[in-house]
Amino acid sequence: MAKVRLEDIKRRFNNVTAIEDISFEIPDGEFWVLVGPSGCGKSTILRTIAGLESATSGKLFIGDSLVNNVPARQRDVAMVFQNYALYPHMTVAQNIAFGLQMRKVDSKIIQERVVNVARSLSLEQLLNRKPKQLSGGQQQRVALGRAIAREPQVFLLDEPLSNLDAQLRDDTRAELKQLHQELGITTIYVTHDQVEAMTLADKIVVLNRGRIQQIGDPQNIYARP
Ligand code: ADP
Ligand code: ADP
Repeated sequence: MAKVRLEDIKRRFNNVTAIEDISFEIPDGEFWVLVGPSGCGKSTILRTIAGLESATSGKLFIGDSLVNNVPARQRDVAMVFQNYALYPHMTVAQNIAFGLQMRKVDSKIIQERVVNVARSLSLEQLLNRKPKQLSGGQQQRVALGRAIAREPQVFLLDEPLSNLDAQLRDDTRAELKQLHQELGITTIYVTHDQVEAMTLADKIVVLNRGRIQQIGDPQNIYARP
């Protein structure tokens, strides 16, 4: 795990400013949640941290390193999206192992990690299945597993539960909380769901029109007036 620090990050697309004046520092191991209306810049912030977008200006640090010019695949960051994006032709085990194989991790270690991840996410019985043989909730657990198998310093989640039905959302949310308590990976999580934000967040960042409106503890952000 590592702290994540944004200093005055701005991102423009042609004439549109997607985000500006974005500054915060997430201490090692904390779980922060980004909330705000559609189009306020949540995904752009995550994608910038992942290295999928580059900042137009400002500084981005992971740990003590300035990473603005570090390509995505060399950043120690894993991202999970709303639509799972599993490889359909691979089994669950192969999906979990894929990122490690790409990084030439020793096959013994890969095997161990797959077993440990499967245990943490209750996927042991599903390792030989293909994604289409899984429910939506199981697929999203595999996507989480594939991300944590790499043991990233930073974990980014963009509305990971929003395609799940209510019961599965509750279960998976509880699992995520448990996983974070177990692994302590610095996490940034985008959601529209107040219950998710309240249950998961150490701190909540409220965004509006590309700017930070407020940063606070869940009980302060959602306090009744
Ligand atoms: P959110 O995730 O909060 O819905 P986004 O970060 O996706 O918001 O988008 C923030 C703003 O930036 C929106 O106005 C969106 O249309 C714009 N934007 C995002 N990505 C691009 C892009 N690749 N090209 C042009 N505009 C973009
Ligand atoms: P989400 O709300 O899940 O972030 P979006 O629909 O905002 O999804 O964006 C999906 C993709 O399209 C992203 O890669 C984003 O950067 C890009 N995008 C978003 N808005 C625009 C835009 N106005 N012009 C071009 N690309 C955009």
